[in-house]
Amino acid sequence: MQDIHEGGCLCGAVRFKTRGKLRELIFCHCSQCRKQTGLYYAATNVLDSDMEIEGSDAITWYRSSGEARRGFCRHCGSALFWKAEGLDYTSILAGAFDKPTELEPGYHIFCADQGDYYEIHDDLPRFAAARD
Ligand SMILES: [Zn+2]
Ligand SMILES: [Zn+2]
Repeated sequence: MQDIHEGGCLCGAVRFKTRGKLRELIFCHCSQCRKQTGLYYAATNVLDSDMEIEGSDAITWYRSSGEARRGFCRHCGSALFWKAEGLDYTSILAGAFDKPTELEPGYHIFCADQGDYYEIHDDLPRFAAARD
């Protein structure tokens, strides 16, 4: 049975569909993720071969580092994707999914870089930088 999930940006110009069970969410507290999202990043990963995007011409890919690009809707500004060079999957932000998402929390990364305006109030594993 196919496990289909759909989502998109705030204005609807970008829509996506994924196949398969979605991976647990990673919460990233690095400064890039905080700046892009306004708080911290929450995302799952999907193999590119299990994902279809409609309206990809509305996506701007910002090269945020030598290793990765961040995709957002050029019309409404919604942060949608993170894509590392040379990897065959794309990270999709949790908030972009339509409900029911069936997404579950996983763990926190880059906690050493966390903002000073919030606390982490859960018992999920925490890593100072990338996962050990
Ligand atoms: Zn949009
Ligand atoms: Zn990050």
